[in-house]
Amino acid sequence: MLQSRLAALGCLAFRLGDEKRAASHRYGFIELVVCHVSLYCTLCVLRWSRQMFRPLLLLLTLAIGALAQPRSQAPALTQAPASLAIFSEVDDMLRTLSDITGWKVQRTVPAEVLSKDNFRKMVEEGVKDAETSKETRAAEIALKMFGLVPQDFNLARESGDLLAEQAAAFYDYRKKRLFVLDSTKADSEQLVALAHELAHALADQQHPLRKFISDADGDEQSTARQAVIEGQASWLSWAYLSKRTGGPGEVPKALVDRLAEGAGASGDDFPVFTQAPLYIRESLTFPYTEGMRFQDVVYRELGTGAFDRVFRDPPRSTQHIMHPQTYLMGRMPTKPVLPRLEETAGRDARRFRILTDGDVGEFDYGVLLRQYIGETEGRTAAAHWRGGVYRLYEHKQAKYPVLAHSSEWDSPEAARTFFELYQRVLRAKWKKLEIATSSAVQVTGTGDNGRFSLRLDGATVHSIEGIQSPERVR
Ligand SMILES: [Zn+2]
Repeated sequence: MLQSRLAALGCLAFRLGDEKRAASHRYGFIELVVCHVSLYCTLCVLRWSRQMFRPLLLLLTLAIGALAQPRSQAPALTQAPASLAIFSEVDDMLRTLSDITGWKVQRTVPAEVLSKDNFRKMVEEGVKDAETSKETRAAEIALKMFGLVPQDFNLARESGDLLAEQAAAFYDYRKKRLFVLDSTKADSEQLVALAHELAHALADQQHPLRKFISDADGDEQSTARQAVIEGQASWLSWAYLSKRTGGPGEVPKALVDRLAEGAGASGDDFPVFTQAPLYIRESLTFPYTEGMRFQDVVYRELGTGAFDRVFRDPPRSTQHIMHPQTYLMGRMPTKPVLPRLEETAGRDARRFRILTDGDVGEFDYGVLLRQYIGETEGRTAAAHWRGGVYRLYEHKQAKYPVLAHSSEWDSPEAARTFFELYQRVLRAKWKKLEIATSSAVQVTGTGDNGRFSLRLDGATVHSIEGIQSPERVR
């Protein structure tokens, strides 16, 4: 859904060049935030949580120690390389990444330090543009209608703040150049950030990233491709560290799950991330955490062939990323048909126009269910997802929004489970809910923002929410 647009917040910035318009539509993240501004297409490495970073390094060292003694010439990971000195290692680092992936280095990659202040200015300009864009407004309304962010949430502003807080480095794939922010700690954090960006650069030399991203068809594919890009670069940066300290060129199994827990810096020093709604936090970290797990599973299945495979035959959905077996078995997502607005709005349906539409993936429903129902129950139910779509309408005169979404599940039983859980979501996300009619397959009534209808049809569940009665509109 909007996740693809949000995820880019941390990581992607596009120039809204004419030829990029289609892509930037899908990568709203960008459009939402950084990108209006910047003349870049960029990928940023996410900061790993400070609390987690040292334990992760220790774990890596221990895992490698069991296999091999660190080479004596290998620099200690805890020593702080100067921010410019580390750039002298770029060619060596590229060679090591080339050894791990089997990819030939075609050219070196210029690297620069960018001041945090300049980066923040870029972000600020992006936020200003995003605040006035129609896409941002539509995305924000959709998030609020789903109940994924509070009603007073400012998507552009919060996204910008989050990006400014969490970004550590980025690769500009228009200029083929990478930037490390001067706020990135001059120690192993810098090393991981640099290795991550070099992994992007090396991937870009084999599979041009710009095309890879712009070829995505829809929100789900966009998010899945972001997860390929970020997950692989994250996996490779840790595999690089492992190899550098004398271990194998892969991420020790024990580390993968721990790494996934450590993405996104939280705590007192990172108030924006810590206080952001669950959906926003997870959108930011998804490409890194779930993407890295995905890369690891595909790597363990296919060996080094995995690095090309995920670009040549990209995953199509967040489900493919979250459950790599569905990707390996080639299970394609479905496109359920949306309910007709006339079902609920009657003849007034013609008074609405479409604001935006897109996919609702397993990730989206998963966060929604976890937020309102509970962690385990939410995750389990969402895993039965087969496809999902939404459309956001706006009343032409009264300007109020209506949300329609449909989801298909892997069995009528799974659909019924979602049908029932979603009624609990409605109760939880609205302050008031009055039921008008209720049967085994349909519930109608009135919630905070108008009438709703929820309907079970075999393995599909349809919902329309927010229709106001004509007398209220006039
Ligand atoms: Zn990245």
